[in-house]
Amino acid sequence: MSGFINIMRYEGPIYRPPSEADSLLIQVTVGCPHNKCTFCMVYKNGPRYKVRDVKDIKADILKARDIYGDHVRTLFFPAGNTIAMKTEDLCEILIFAKETFSTLERITVYGSSQYIHKKGLKELKHLADAGLSRIHVGLESGDDIILKRIKKGTSSKEQIEAGRWVMDAGMELSLYVILGIGGKDRSGSHARETAKVLNEIVPDFIRLRTFVPKINTPLLEEIQNGSFRMLSPHEVLQETALLIKELQSSSFLTSDHYTNYINLEGKLPEGKKRLLDKINIALKKDEASFRPFFIGTE
Ligand code: SF4
Repeated sequence: MSGFINIMRYEGPIYRPPSEADSLLIQVTVGCPHNKCTFCMVYKNGPRYKVRDVKDIKADILKARDIYGDHVRTLFFPAGNTIAMKTEDLCEILIFAKETFSTLERITVYGSSQYIHKKGLKELKHLADAGLSRIHVGLESGDDIILKRIKKGTSSKEQIEAGRWVMDAGMELSLYVILGIGGKDRSGSHARETAKVLNEIVPDFIRLRTFVPKINTPLLEEIQNGSFRMLSPHEVLQETALLIKELQSSSFLTSDHYTNYINLEGKLPEGKKRLLDKINIALKKDEASFRPFFIGTE
């Protein structure tokens, strides 16, 4: 859909999960209403969070239909926390999109646990009935000390409740975990506490990312002043092994991201042993053979 970007209206950074690479992107919100996470620089330079006019969003949906007709099967609504918009308006857009594209099989958004939690189960059910099929949630960690340090704006308890409500409402849940986000000091508790939260929620997908510091972020400053010590490749793999060992959740685990040191993919619990064997093999390799350290610019 590369030509599409030139024709449609977009404002600010447009991010989407790798699993939405083939999805039509119709911008519904701009920026992120939280915008405080210490590792994230996506919207730090603006624009400020806002919800686009429903009529403009509908106009973009119609424009996309003129271009793609019946070829649209999956649709993603950027930006950073579209779940935060008014339920009624989001429902209106979901219903309109389904009416416009008869071939649509999936509609998804990004949403942080605190905004999902604010909706409550009843509103989440409305969204599911209107056609929202999956929410991509940055869980990052299940460790409350880490969640506070990275200013995620939520707690393990809230993340568990929000995650369960998404599943109970009948939507799919993709949870993103950042390996190494607790640094050397909290690597063990990050793995154990995150596994605990995931075991409570049992999401459809667990998606692993490895922490890469980004320019102009508070967490990069912490690394530079020595208050945050990053994990080495082997330490990240050891943390991953501990996380997987502790997982009892029947989820699909994948490391579908360029930041990871090795590729891991499999259904839990049956894939557990194979994944752990793969990590053990990787741990025998010299650390210098993994991707080099870098500071992210996006
Ligand atoms: S990680 Fe997500 S919730 Fe946090 S500031 Fe970035 S976009 Fe917002």
